[in-house]
Amino acid sequence: MSFDTLGLKAELLRAVGEQGYTRPTPVQEKAIPAVLAGRDLMASAQTGTGKTAAFTLPLLQKLSEHTGPRKLRALILTPTRELAAQVHENLRAYGRHLNLKSLEVFGGVNINPQMDKLRRGVDVLIATPGRLIDHLERGTARLDGIEILVLDEADRMLDMGFRPAIERILKHVPKKRQTLLFSATFSKEITGLAQRYLNDPLRVETAPPNSTVEAIAQKAIRVDQNRKRELLSWMIGAENWRQVLVFTRTKHGANRLAKQLESDGLSAAAIHGNKSQGARTKALAGFKQGKVRVLVATDIAARGLDIDQLPHVVNYEIPNVPEDYVHRIGRTGRAGRDGLALSLVSGGEHGQFEDIRKLVKVNIPTEVIEGYDPIEQPSRKAATSGRPANTGRSRQSKPQSKPRSNGPGNANSGNRGRGRGRSQGRNARAA
Ligand code: AMP
Repeated sequence: MSFDTLGLKAELLRAVGEQGYTRPTPVQEKAIPAVLAGRDLMASAQTGTGKTAAFTLPLLQKLSEHTGPRKLRALILTPTRELAAQVHENLRAYGRHLNLKSLEVFGGVNINPQMDKLRRGVDVLIATPGRLIDHLERGTARLDGIEILVLDEADRMLDMGFRPAIERILKHVPKKRQTLLFSATFSKEITGLAQRYLNDPLRVETAPPNSTVEAIAQKAIRVDQNRKRELLSWMIGAENWRQVLVFTRTKHGANRLAKQLESDGLSAAAIHGNKSQGARTKALAGFKQGKVRVLVATDIAARGLDIDQLPHVVNYEIPNVPEDYVHRIGRTGRAGRDGLALSLVSGGEHGQFEDIRKLVKVNIPTEVIEGYDPIEQPSRKAATSGRPANTGRSRQSKPQSKPRSNGPGNANSGNRGRGRGRSQGRNARAA
């Protein structure tokens, strides 16, 4: 299947070609013709599936067919400012040969420049719900000309408590419109939202909910909490990882780890909700340009980050909510590229990790690294559910997965050419 058969106009096909895309992803293949035909859409697609292009390409096409004075005709709602910025970046890239104006509005930055730009006229607005409400209250944005509404990462917006805000915004949008809803999963709440606001939507399901993408190699290492940082620094150096996204549970933990990694000589930055927008944008830009080697993030801050070719994701702390694991590792191996998702599991996190294994239904191989043998006993209780954990499995896997024959990098990922760097690293460490 090629992009040419989807009904997109030449200007868009040209932009897609310039992005280097050769084939549409499954969600693009299904969504693009349906949206062009005017249908409402309800798609389960995570970051990494190409969902952004799936809605921006047909949206741009529909807007470009219109003649007449410029007015706000498309609204894209996103849960976070990072996602708004990234959707906008994609929209600009795909729309570069069209004469359309777009604007992103989110909180945490001065509202005045946004007001000026809105006054001068835009075709597409990408907004987080809170800031859009500010504009509605000030009368600086009018939504009565909206023809296409996109709810991106709708599940996240509900998780973040934006339901009342969304409902308020929808009161300003004409009933006669096209609505596209994207969500990682179809929960009861999402289905309810769709029933209320969508008109006979086409349902597109790309991957079964909560299954992890096959291109991602998953691996776990049992290690004591107090030795995780040392192990992480060593692995980054020994395996020569150039770009790694590391997840911690708390903002404080993210800051502390980034500082410690810096003191280990690795360029690192933390990204989380307490940082100013400027600091977050700077950290992300540094990471994308390769100036920052390790980006340490909390779950909320990382939601929707669009980073190309991200080869390594590390769960420095195991998420409390198993679904967050799926979101986290969705940052790697995107759009068909290989990725490695590594979890560092302490004795106390054993139960939580068992819950994750059950959810993803993949037997994530667990190993112990020589010199980092855990002393902590695996706890029997899952931290969140209190269910008894299967303590047998990890102990069994320990001897057979000693890295002498099966170390980091090749446990579940075939020949990735990491062996050399690793053994150098081990020697270096032993020396
Ligand atoms: P998304 O799921 O929208 O966050 O997109 C994930 C990544 O895949 C982005 O970096 C896109 O630039 C990239 N991408 C989107 N569509 C394609 C495609 N058809 N072929 C290759 N890469 C793509």
